[in-house]
Amino acid sequence: MAGLYIHVPFCASRCIYCDFYSQTNAQLKKDFVVALCREIELLKDSLTEFAPFSTVYFGGGTPSLLSIHELATIIECLLSNVSILPSAEWTLEANPDDVRLDYAHGLKGLGVNRVSLGVQSFSDRELAFLGRRHSGEQVYQAIDALRRESINNISVDLIYALPNQTKEQWHKNVQNAINLEVPHISSYHLICEENTPLYKLVDRGAIVLPKEEQGIEAYYYLIQELERVGFKHYEISNFAKEGYISCHNSAYWNRTPYFGLGPSAHSYIPERRWSNVADLRSYIDRVGLNELPKDFEERLSLKDQYNEWIMLGLRTREGIDTKLLQESLGQEYYTLLKRQATPFCQKGWLEWKGNYLQSTSQGFIFVDGIIRDIFSL
Ligand code: SF4
Repeated sequence: MAGLYIHVPFCASRCIYCDFYSQTNAQLKKDFVVALCREIELLKDSLTEFAPFSTVYFGGGTPSLLSIHELATIIECLLSNVSILPSAEWTLEANPDDVRLDYAHGLKGLGVNRVSLGVQSFSDRELAFLGRRHSGEQVYQAIDALRRESINNISVDLIYALPNQTKEQWHKNVQNAINLEVPHISSYHLICEENTPLYKLVDRGAIVLPKEEQGIEAYYYLIQELERVGFKHYEISNFAKEGYISCHNSAYWNRTPYFGLGPSAHSYIPERRWSNVADLRSYIDRVGLNELPKDFEERLSLKDQYNEWIMLGLRTREGIDTKLLQESLGQEYYTLLKRQATPFCQKGWLEWKGNYLQSTSQGFIFVDGIIRDIFSL
């Protein structure tokens, strides 16, 4: 069933590594909420075609910068225009220092049943380096506040391979995350994206990124420790306890339709993709003119679809259902995939399980390269 993504384009400050669209000026928050509700109304007919929705995800940016009242306005608008399953997964990304008792209470009242906390590290030194505004201590306070409101479906994000990150500190971050006893952990290698302050620092030699082996070692440690305590490694960067896989994110990897609302949000319905304009002012202006704020749209050719099957499927533990691929794209692409996968199977990076082609644990390390090589150009 389809999913809804809502991009909240505000952050209290910008982290040095981040290239997501957001701004620190919150003056347009009110106008954003009005525009978002208008966008929901403008999309009502299209949304109805894909209803009922089974997931709603507030991402960003920092959705927890919205007040409970602002979130309530958006949720009321959604519920009065779109059919959403009573059992839907409602996720909100939050910065730990925003989640106090009253805020957690408000979220509970709104029906938010999953919170994804941008923890990243438990070391105040690392958090300061990344430009995060919370402290390690505030992570515990946020978790405690959520649990007091019986919001137990909590995910924490961690980042590894930071400059000057010692092995001991990374191990401590992983162990602290385990000790929180949350049912979901996502963990990402620090990426030096262009047009970020981090990129400039690296470019002028002020910061040296760790060697590739250090990242691989950190990743292996993460997998080993999380699997040891019962997490299922269900996607390259995601680990869940039984019953706590992220339904919303899984829908992306399964090519389930989703609608993205808000500036810079992406949408997918078979076989079309589009994104909204990544600029809050023009988003508000265009929606104000009763115009959908699209910036880019494409129809996916068979070749594009094949590449998506590869890119999304090999990131997941389940892998690619090649029988379904054959039915959807035809014999030619099925044969191509079998041929392209063979050298990676011989290296032990991919393997066949029935009609599923899957990445092995070792394959996950090299998955970006494998995907690039298998892409049909
Ligand atoms: S809080 Fe999240 S979205 Fe905002 S700058 Fe930091 S990483 Fe990016």
